[in-house]
Amino acid sequence: MELGQEISLHYENIRLKNMDLLSQRKNEIYRKIPDIKNLDAFISELALKSCREIFAKPDSSLVLEATQEISELKDQKRKILKAKGYPENYLDMPYDCHICKDTGFLEDGSKCSCLKKLTIDKLYKNSNLSHVLLRENFSTFNINLFSDEINEREGLSPRANIKKITDLSKNFIITFKEDNDFNLLFYGPTGQGKTFMINCIAKELMDRNVSVIYLTAYEMIEVLENKKFKKIENLEYSLLFDSELLIVDDLGIELITTFTNSEIFNIINTRLIRGKKTIISTNLSPKELSKTYTDRVFSRVFQKFTPLKFFGEDLRWQ
Ligand SMILES: [Zn+2]
Repeated sequence: MELGQEISLHYENIRLKNMDLLSQRKNEIYRKIPDIKNLDAFISELALKSCREIFAKPDSSLVLEATQEISELKDQKRKILKAKGYPENYLDMPYDCHICKDTGFLEDGSKCSCLKKLTIDKLYKNSNLSHVLLRENFSTFNINLFSDEINEREGLSPRANIKKITDLSKNFIITFKEDNDFNLLFYGPTGQGKTFMINCIAKELMDRNVSVIYLTAYEMIEVLENKKFKKIENLEYSLLFDSELLIVDDLGIELITTFTNSEIFNIINTRLIRGKKTIISTNLSPKELSKTYTDRVFSRVFQKFTPLKFFGEDLRWQ
């Protein structure tokens, strides 16, 4: 099923479920408190009458009176419910999301946060990341895979380095909801655990209900090209801007063209302005990155990223 269809079906089911719940509650209350049943019958009768009146004489004072009376009767209903030990709103339409009343959209037509969250969840379920995250997370992370021999050039061992990176990453998670311009730039050759660390962070934040979108740089560029050249504006495109955390994995030199360069910059910059966080992993060094981007752009954007260097032996064989 197409994603859009899947999502509208999801909301449809929520609404059906809640309508069902409401009718169960009505039956229960009508049985236990017949006064309420009588009140409801009276309210419906009044509403019907006032409806007929609107058609017959739109400016009739009867309509206004009926509206007032109905709202008084509804108050009375609430009071009775409360007195009998029920919540006042027990017979109001229940919603899973009160902001959009389970439609997914706000009155101005923009997307509700529940819709954004749902879209991301569905995208994840449709991708295979959820399986990866079961395998790659902080609880399966083995620091002993990293050598404890001091690397002369770096002045510390890969193990001490990964320990430092882990601590910083955990700090990133803990302070995630703060407005602190804390973004991460993981760099270093392939096979040093960058993607693994990214998965650890993604898992931890998703467990905390943060909307995370993970794309390899290659996938992201595909989304951007679809938007630009084929005019396909899919949900993923808007999520590049909307998700609370964007992860761009494996940004390599071969992917950088003038087009992707300016598009990627636009996304990162917009996110920075909106206070949304980003993690980028790349095999480019900050120096190479600064060569790719103009110095002005580079310093403005990347000063808001904490660069963390991964080094050591290639772990893919271990
Ligand atoms: Zn909502």
